[in-house]
Amino acid sequence: MTDRYGVDGFWMDGEIGAVYTCYCDRCTSAFTQQTGITEIPRDKTQAHWEAWMKFTRDSFYEPVTRYTDAVHAHKSAC
Ligand SMILES: [Zn+2]
Repeated sequence: MTDRYGVDGFWMDGEIGAVYTCYCDRCTSAFTQQTGITEIPRDKTQAHWEAWMKFTRDSFYEPVTRYTDAVHAHKSAC
């Protein structure tokens, strides 16, 4: 898009509003691998809720950082 159409910026709408906890095997396994915590909390009254929320936020930021870094690597002014 930056090459063909000269796009110099993107607005990624709605990304942050779509951050939800996910209890699938892939996410819970990744959480355990990163933290060593094996009991996944289901609500904020349970142990490790803060770590679970941090994992959830980080899981959102990681792909956003990856694609914005790729765009900047290709066109730094974008
Ligand atoms: Zn998941």
